[in-house]
Amino acid sequence: MAAILPNTLSFRLTLLYALAFSIFLLAAFGFALLLVKSSMNNEINDDLSEDIIEYRKIFRSGRIEQVIDEIKRDIKPGEPDDEFVVIMDIHGQHIFSSDIRGWKGLGINNEIISTITGRTSDDGIYFETQEIPEREFDTRIAYGLIGPDVIIQIGESLEQTAEMLGLLIYLFLISFLVIIPTALIFGWYITRRAVSGIEKVSNAATAIKNGNLDCRVDVSGQSSEIQNLVDTFNSMAHRIRELITEMREMIDNIAHDLRTPLGRIRMISEMTLSSANNEACKTAAANTLEQCDKLLQYINATLDVAEAEAGVATSKNEPVDISAVTNDACELFETIAEVKNIKVTARLEPGCIVSGNRQNLQRMIANILDNALKYTSANGKVDINLDKNDNHIKITITDTGIGIPAIDQQRVFDRFFRCDQSRIEEGCGLGLSFSRAVARSHNGDITLTSTPGVGTEFIISIPAWQK
Ligand code: ADP
Repeated sequence: MAAILPNTLSFRLTLLYALAFSIFLLAAFGFALLLVKSSMNNEINDDLSEDIIEYRKIFRSGRIEQVIDEIKRDIKPGEPDDEFVVIMDIHGQHIFSSDIRGWKGLGINNEIISTITGRTSDDGIYFETQEIPEREFDTRIAYGLIGPDVIIQIGESLEQTAEMLGLLIYLFLISFLVIIPTALIFGWYITRRAVSGIEKVSNAATAIKNGNLDCRVDVSGQSSEIQNLVDTFNSMAHRIRELITEMREMIDNIAHDLRTPLGRIRMISEMTLSSANNEACKTAAANTLEQCDKLLQYINATLDVAEAEAGVATSKNEPVDISAVTNDACELFETIAEVKNIKVTARLEPGCIVSGNRQNLQRMIANILDNALKYTSANGKVDINLDKNDNHIKITITDTGIGIPAIDQQRVFDRFFRCDQSRIEEGCGLGLSFSRAVARSHNGDITLTSTPGVGTEFIISIPAWQK
């Protein structure tokens, strides 16, 4: 059930709204039905009472024959049989009755009869509702004493009341069928409006999680709670942006400031290596030199990323034959592929041109190709495709390597990030952040799809050069 019904707040609120509305409608209708029914019953009771009072008056001022004549005048034979009158003695023996062939099974309420006969003079009128087997509708019956030991029983069919109630129920069902879908649509509209702000915040949070730190929520006409949420979210996003920028600047400054002292240490180590007589000193100097080179490599890579992110390198644009650049990269890595016994296949559409920085574009493709070979084991495959599509150059590099776990797939583009399983390989976690910064500074992007244990596909997309 949970899988079939959407588990969204809008859906739940709409259902709740429609449910509350239906319950309210049902209760209101039930109450109205009760009122109508009781008012119609009262009206029938009044009619029956008036008749009994009238017959009683006639009896008291004359004889029973005059009452019978009056009854005959009131209920003419052949008229619709929706009422009857019976005059009886206290034992229930009929003295006179109107045509009661249509009231077969009509009974006498002995309790009422004994109440009436137990009194010497009684102007009271007693009511009951009888279900007569052969009649479709119930009958409302009134009893009263019209003279000494003479009881009158008058009944009227409740057909009209039942028909009126039936009509009301029918009208209600029709309105229910119209009102409930309208309430659902209305409820859906109201809840969608109410939660649209939350949805926008959630979308912006996803965009920020995916690296778009400049994403903000823009809403208007929302309730103050949502507006507060949006404002708080926007200031939080702004603060995150500021902190990350500060952190990057700090890393760049540290990297920059470290270059000079490291260069000096390197120079001293070189001098020691060439001048020292002691073997231990020479080994220490060589090790220091090696570590300095590694550190300098890290620092330079960090500064390259910062430069690529700032778009400095693309300030001087030139047409670059990206097909040729990719082909050169493939040739460059041929030897490594052969050594690792990896089959490299390249299908490159010739003559595709982009506008940008040749050196950075070369390094971008080389980084991704290098990774593909690095993270693919012997006997694997690496395919490189390059084609032009809708004014975009698309370079796809697919490998059959170790793959990247889903949780790491966006993080591999972060500076210094390396997946746990690839730490055995050499690297500093800056290649992909540099490559993506280069692609973005060329108005393009890099995306990836990967299945751990099966392989990874990187797609570089860059706008083609427009003459
Ligand atoms: P590194 O110098 O570690 O290769 P990168 O920035 O180039 O740094 O890559 C970041 C991380 O992404 C790598 O450490 C590795 O875990 C993962 N990665 C990149 N490319 C691949 C690939 N083709 N197959 C599997 N993992 C990859």
